Order: sequence, then structure tokens, then C-alpha cells
Amino acid sequence: MTNIALTNARIIDGTGRPEIGSGTLLVANGQVAQVGPSSAVAIPEGYRTIDLRGKTVLPALIDGHMHVTGEPGRLDHMGHVTSNLRGIGVLQQCLRWGTATVGHAAGSAESVVLRDVIRNGHVQGCADLVVGAAVTATCGHVRAGNADGPWEIRKAVREMIGARADFIKTCASGGFQWEHEKLTHEDYSLEELQALVEQAHSREKRVHVHAHAQPGLANAIEAGCDVILHGALIDDAALAGIAAKGLWYMPTLHITSEQARQTHKWPAYMVEAMKAAHPIHCAGVAKAHRMGIKLATGTDGGPGSIMNELRLLVDCGLSPMDAIVTATRHTADALDILDTTGTLELGKRANLLVVDDDPLRDITVLSSPETISLVMKDGIIQPVGDFDPNGARERN
Ligand SMILES: [Zn+2]
Repeated sequence: MTNIALTNARIIDGTGRPEIGSGTLLVANGQVAQVGPSSAVAIPEGYRTIDLRGKTVLPALIDGHMHVTGEPGRLDHMGHVTSNLRGIGVLQQCLRWGTATVGHAAGSAESVVLRDVIRNGHVQGCADLVVGAAVTATCGHVRAGNADGPWEIRKAVREMIGARADFIKTCASGGFQWEHEKLTHEDYSLEELQALVEQAHSREKRVHVHAHAQPGLANAIEAGCDVILHGALIDDAALAGIAAKGLWYMPTLHITSEQARQTHKWPAYMVEAMKAAHPIHCAGVAKAHRMGIKLATGTDGGPGSIMNELRLLVDCGLSPMDAIVTATRHTADALDILDTTGTLELGKRANLLVVDDDPLRDITVLSSPETISLVMKDGIIQPVGDFDPNGARERN
């Protein structure tokens, strides 16, 4: 593996510390070996040097909430195989656009296989997958449909932990997707959520919970779910509860945003409900930020949606630095992978991207794949730009 020196770059290390105006980052054996002002870092012999004058290096982005495969309960065996193989293309496009880690929000035992073949290097060029295995109710919001009542839920959680899932994904409220369902509908009851959380925590696994509105939000918070997702109709009581318990809030603003509404061919009932919810969603995130609630990024979208999420977070009052730290360090922390990634510190995996210009001055520098000039995962320079099976190219 070639050791690489990225020099003369603006470096944002993802910790929240001020950027280095003109820095050098050394990558050795796939890890960050040194980072500091260019004047203070000597480049050892044998390193490939890449001059990044005028450009910015930052940790690769993390989308903590995507649906990489179909909903487990709606797939037969061949559907699972097909869906996970298609997921390879999705994860390749994510990496080309600077996202090196994806939290999978409704995974299955088959998704663990996909995670492992990527991790083992049998499949190349993909963002890493952190698998949240779905444990959800019959006719619930996410159609995994594998458990109802405390004891079935405990068994399903045990099965998913046995399948080596990274976290458990569940639902406390309805969502936008189904016409018969409202955000204010309860999904799992408090009793069911408590059993699920207790079982997951007994094996040190976190719980990510879909919860848009009351009473689902209150149930999710009372049960102690670790990561509260969405909150499109989040209210003051929920924000106070999240703050008091020190839970993560991963708002996935993208999914109610105009960009998502324009991109997807959703039925009118979905679009109308999302449009009505978006201002409440944004106001909730703005207030969460002012209260010092731990925010993390997810999108419920596809490759590149994280760039829209960053812009939306800045619209909600986060500084560009806060938004970048949210999409890197904080989301790594929420996914429980901060020991290996999420920041550009000594010994961390060299997962990073390089953009033209300065995203701290203008976050929209990060809102288009066009500005990405280099992506690195585990110290290896990846193809960038739109996926083109016939013409993978490397810039710089
Ligand atoms: Zn989702």
C-alpha cells in the first residue's frame, strides 16, 4: 500500500477544533499517521505527495440512516439476495460522493453478509455498512413484521444479535409511507419498546427508533431508545426528554425537504404531509441545536443525500463547522464506531474527502458532487464522480 502525504491543504479534522489553514496529513498503512501545519510536518521518504493548495480535506461523511435494501418482511429469499447485491451499487455510489460509512436502517441477516464481504475486501469500492436489523410489528411502519409483544420481540432481538447485527432498528410511530397510517399512530407500545431496549442493551447493542410524533416520541424516550430518528413533528416535551436522557437525535431533514419531494415519485398524500411537516421538522432541529442536544446525520435518502442534509442543518442554525462535525464525529459516535473513524486523528482509518474551496465559508461547497476531487477509504484513493462502470477514473 502506498503511503501518501496530502500537503498544503485546509484541514478540518472533524473533532470540532479550528481548521488548519495550510496543513499536511500523512497516511501510512491505511491510517492517519500525522496531521498538522505543513511547516511542522516533515514528509518521510517514499511517500506519494499530493499538493492540495486551495482545497479542503475533511473526514469522509457518514449517512447514519439509509435503506440500502428493501424491507425485510416484503422480500422472499431471492428478493433478499437481489436486494443486497443491488446494495453494492448504492454503496459504491455513496463512496464516490464522499460517504465512507452508511447506517443501514432496516437490515436483515443477509445485510450482515453484505457488510462482511465489504469489510473483508471481497467487494471493493463500497462505503462500509453498519447494519441495523429491523425488529418491527405486524402491519407496523417498517415491514419487517417479525415480532409482536414483549416475548416475540425479545426473541427477534436475540435472533438479530445472533446474526451479528450492529444495532437494532425499530418503530414507535407511524410514518409518511402508508396511506392508512398517521405520524400520530402508535407503532410498538411502551411495554414492547421497553422489552426491546432491555434485550438489546443486555448485549451492548443500541436501538435506533423511528418516531415522528407523540405518543411515539414519548414512548421511545421513556423506553430509553438510544437514537431518536426523524421527529418530523417533534415537540418541546420530546426535546426536553431527549436532552434529559442524553439521547441522540438523528433528524433526517432531507426526507421532508423540497429536494426529496421533487426527486421522488411519491403519491400526493405523502408529498402533502411532508410539505406540511417540514417547517415543524426544521424548527425542532433548530431548537435541539440551541439546547445542546446531540445531533447526528442520516437522510432516509440515497447516495449524495447527505449533502442536502448538511445544507439543511446550516439552514437550521448550525455553523458549517458544526454541520461537518455532526456528519462525521457525532454520527460515528451515534453509530458506536468513533474508535476507528469519524475524525482525522492519529491511528484512525484514513477515510476522507477533498473538496475544492472552503466549506466553512459556504457549506454548499459540499452540496454538489462536482466539488469533490478526491475520496480515500482506508488510505486507498477511490474513483470519484458519477458511477460509470465503463470509465472509473481517479482525479488528482
Ligand atoms: Zn428510514
